[in-house]
Amino acid sequence: MTKAPWWDKGIRFECQGSGKCCVSHEGYGYVYMTTEDRVRMAKTLNLSTDEFTRQYCTQDEGVYHLVDGAEGRCHFLEGRRCGIYDGRPTQCRTWPFWPEVMGAKTWNKEVAAFCPGVGKGKLWSKKEIREQLAIQSRSEEQYL
Ligand code: SF4
Repeated sequence: MTKAPWWDKGIRFECQGSGKCCVSHEGYGYVYMTTEDRVRMAKTLNLSTDEFTRQYCTQDEGVYHLVDGAEGRCHFLEGRRCGIYDGRPTQCRTWPFWPEVMGAKTWNKEVAAFCPGVGKGKLWSKKEIREQLAIQSRSEEQYL
């Protein structure tokens, strides 16, 4: 029998609009983009996907990610808010439920310590967290 995850009873998380996750930091410096992300964001900005990609993306080992704005801030950050919220990339939608940070140690050391939304607001059930993790995993498979 597999052991229940430490988040079996859910996790409280609600974005507090700190903008912290929209500024390049340590291991989470890149906002990676699937093709779907580029198409959606281009539409949100009324650009063709090619124009959007030329202006805002670059590749690292064949994987597209957003080019940082000034001081490591995302180009689309307006004050502390995402300026393209409805069109934002998958990675930004699924935060903080990313497979690579769900270990208890990483969560406490890197996510809870950094993100003021952890422990606040909506209680995400195990099922909802699993859904976010699955969306993020599918997206990571599409980066290449
Ligand atoms: S696209 Fe929006 S949510 Fe994602 S990093 Fe940029 S400002 Fe933040």
